[in-house]
Amino acid sequence: KIRVRFAPSPTGPLHIGGLRTALFNYLFAKKNGGDFILRIEDTDQNRFVEGAEDYIIASLNWCNIPFDEGPGKDGGFGPYRQSERKHLYKKYAEELIAKGKAYYAFDTPNSLDVHRKAHEIEGKTFIYNWHNRLKLDNSLTLSDDELKDKLDSGQDYVIRFLTPESKKLKLQDSIRGSIEIDTNTLDDKVLFKSDGMPTYHLANIVDDHLMEISHVIRGEEWLPSLALHQQLYDAFGWQAPQFAHLPLIMKPVGKGKLSKRDGEKMGFPVFPLTWKESTGYREEGFFPEAVVNFLALLGWNPGTEQEIFSLDELVQAFSLERVNKSGARFDPDKNKWYNQYYLQEASNASLASSFQEQFLAKENLNTQFSLEYVEQVVSLIKERATFVSDFWELSDYFFVSPSVYAEKAVKKQWKEDTPEILNEVKSLLEVQDNFSSSHIETVVKDWIKEKELSFGKVMPPLRLVIVGDMKGPHLFDIMAMIGKKESIDRIENAMV
Ligand code: GLU
Repeated sequence: KIRVRFAPSPTGPLHIGGLRTALFNYLFAKKNGGDFILRIEDTDQNRFVEGAEDYIIASLNWCNIPFDEGPGKDGGFGPYRQSERKHLYKKYAEELIAKGKAYYAFDTPNSLDVHRKAHEIEGKTFIYNWHNRLKLDNSLTLSDDELKDKLDSGQDYVIRFLTPESKKLKLQDSIRGSIEIDTNTLDDKVLFKSDGMPTYHLANIVDDHLMEISHVIRGEEWLPSLALHQQLYDAFGWQAPQFAHLPLIMKPVGKGKLSKRDGEKMGFPVFPLTWKESTGYREEGFFPEAVVNFLALLGWNPGTEQEIFSLDELVQAFSLERVNKSGARFDPDKNKWYNQYYLQEASNASLASSFQEQFLAKENLNTQFSLEYVEQVVSLIKERATFVSDFWELSDYFFVSPSVYAEKAVKKQWKEDTPEILNEVKSLLEVQDNFSSSHIETVVKDWIKEKELSFGKVMPPLRLVIVGDMKGPHLFDIMAMIGKKESIDRIENAMV
């Protein structure tokens, strides 16, 4: 059975990078009829941030990629928060010691600092490994009795992995192929601390094993941990899951990976939802479909020219074979392009209610105008919009008569004979019982021909007085929408 997990640490807001990891796990699980598990890796209590777990879950739900198992959704492998599994890990650390794969170390932070400084002076970096572990304060240099005494006396310790010397490890990654690592470059990582807490490495491996995880799909920043993780599986005698490390997400311009600061500096959000002070994609007016679509293409490609994918289509098309090795460049303009696409696809009814809720209600315009009216407005202006928040600027004249007229347009369009012409148009409109767009268009155009006027003398100033500017869709559509009385009032208003 395919079982994958998204294993964030609740240390703050979930970035777009974390959400992409979650999405790829979800797609892989659904494509293969498997389960998508959420595990909260909260063993580091110092870095725990209140609210982070709720935020992560809300983000997944907003994207419509809910987990099958996780906090509050037991699938028989719980609990799913590592802090609630605390009691589990010690015996595994002890098992490694019994097998000679790990050892106790008693070095204090101070004594390690002394070693670090001594190395620095010689221009070297101190690594706790084969090279100097025998000179340090650990059980490798102690007799059984001495060790027992130290432990009994309650001295603080950590348990470190005993990395073998001069061994060539062959690691497999579904995206990168096989990778060779010389164990002499590795340090003896801490697995467990005397406060009873495992480190990320031990808890992660134990839980992936106990939760029967088949594939570990995570960000490239975890690739350096792969050697240790593979060795831990081997040390326990467990079958390791298959690993896939997703490419980094790169800044829109320049070098380096995308960070929260890039978003702050360049003015695009890197969070899916609002996080305390920062805004997210949801608040910027992005549709979850657009976010899912652009995230999917950050590092994965379908092998075709297709750019638009629904979630279902992504599930169908997804495979780890088509995930790239090289970094994926983040492109805020492309993200907007996606949103514009999904906005055009959205129903006018749903857009109209969002517009009403997000804007018109705040301006107290929601009681004056029916939802049908708003829907018609939306149908006329949406092709120019990227976000629902663009609607007001594109359509204010459907709701309120212009209070100012665009200066440039006035200069260009308002001629000496304009008032006289518009007055005649007004009289013409006053006698129309049928105020449909096509009818008033015929009437006004026939009249222009009859009077041997040019369209340029009539239509632009008429738009100016109705709209306040030279923008907007077909003018007679607008006039029919706002109605006869309002159209005539606006012509009159402009004359005084
Ligand atoms: N807790 C790790 C993180 O915050 C999980 C890494 C992994 O997936 O193994 O990303």
